Amino acid sequence: MEEVRTRFPPSPSGYLHIGGARTAIFNWLFAQKTGGKLILRIEDTDAERSSEESIQGIIESLKWLGITWDEGPYFQSQFIDEHVAAAQKLVELGHAYKCFCTKDELELKREEARRTKSALQYDGTCRNLTPDEIREKEAAGTPHTIRLKVPRGEGSILFEDIVYGFIEKKYEDIEDFVVVRSNGRPLYVLSNAVDDMRDRITHVIRGQDGLANTPKQILIYKALGAPIPKFAHMSLTLDPKKAKISKRTHGELVAVHFYREHGFLPWAFVNYLALLGWSTPDSREIFSTEELIQAFSLEGISRGNAIFDVRKNDPKFFTDPKAISVNTHYLRNLPVEEIEPYIRGELEKAGIWDPEFEGAKHDWFLHTVDLIRSRYHVTSDFVTHGRAYFSDDYPIDPKALKKNILKHEELKAWFPILADRLNAIETFSIEEAEHVIRELAEELGIKAGILINGIRTAVTGVAKGPGLFDVLIATGQRRVVERLRKAVTLFE
Ligand code: GLU
Repeated sequence: MEEVRTRFPPSPSGYLHIGGARTAIFNWLFAQKTGGKLILRIEDTDAERSSEESIQGIIESLKWLGITWDEGPYFQSQFIDEHVAAAQKLVELGHAYKCFCTKDELELKREEARRTKSALQYDGTCRNLTPDEIREKEAAGTPHTIRLKVPRGEGSILFEDIVYGFIEKKYEDIEDFVVVRSNGRPLYVLSNAVDDMRDRITHVIRGQDGLANTPKQILIYKALGAPIPKFAHMSLTLDPKKAKISKRTHGELVAVHFYREHGFLPWAFVNYLALLGWSTPDSREIFSTEELIQAFSLEGISRGNAIFDVRKNDPKFFTDPKAISVNTHYLRNLPVEEIEPYIRGELEKAGIWDPEFEGAKHDWFLHTVDLIRSRYHVTSDFVTHGRAYFSDDYPIDPKALKKNILKHEELKAWFPILADRLNAIETFSIEEAEHVIRELAEELGIKAGILINGIRTAVTGVAKGPGLFDVLIATGQRRVVERLRKAVTLFE
């Protein structure tokens, strides 16, 4: 069987967004599954909109996601001569022609068509110029475009899209479209097809918005005698209001780097994106890399649009709750060693990474990460909620302070007593710590909960977390004692 060759051809006019990442992922999965190749091609022919920064950003995001490509990046702009040569070949073969109609002439014809309510198509004026007429116009230096000669009369382009099934486009509904502008620049529809031919692409897996180009591109393939790839068009990614996900409407909220910066694990994000408009018959949601590659099929791509639940100013979820839940799953269930580098990254970013965490304190570090992750959703939670475990410089959440400490003024007197008693423990263990705290509560005739909540807030800065006695052991005797002694200043 022929080797599968897929491609991901982003236009570098901004960051890699969710829709683009999803396209890349589907192409990558299909290539991986079939033992084929993925080609990365940067479609940078629109010099005004393309930027080096965007190219680097896209490549970085792909790398972060773990999407690997086998060839490229190729740059479309380096093949412009080849695109134009293909158009010239089309002219030689009689499948395209030079069109000398000027902009003004075309505009007049369009107006006329609008007035008479007839088809707004190019009328084929230059389709049948004689060689003499062509020579004459060229000799006069009249600029020209190149138009594809679309078959006329009955007939249609018919192809089977892997996702949408049979699609038919009548010849009469396709005008003789321009493939090279009068300034000599090829049109995207041509460049894209010629690049796919050169890269021997067997499967074009792209967004549904590419569907408008497909019949035209099939005509180009046919005219050049090139094998026609298979097409799989994917439904669009929409926000809950049914607007297309885009940089313009959603800003950074739909950028891949946003998720990297907000504590997503790359594989979790890939897993989640794969579920946007693709599913297995049993609606499974969590896949390891190998499992996802095995389970993936183009046939599993749905025709219905995928919804990405962008959230703005939602205090509860900063993004799609399903995306968070997939990430949470991985964060809590992967072997702790696998998430360790990402936690390290967060601590470094926050300036609280201690080299000891991978030296003498390595076991402690892994244990602590494992202990506290059961309440976290994203890796950044380790510094926003978990900072006190890794640094002595941590803030006290004002709400927790009010509720768990300031409301119980007696704690001002009790904290030092607690500190002394915990300090006196010979072997600091869960049992011993618990015993000390419960005993003091009994002596004072108060609920142990008052002490427990107060200690938690003083020692960790927050109101919630794993069982307090686990927390105390993870924090360590010396630091717990220090923090409780210092806690009296919280009342000032
Ligand atoms: N450069 C196009 C885009 O970014 C790709 C179109 C295609 O896949 O053919 O939308």
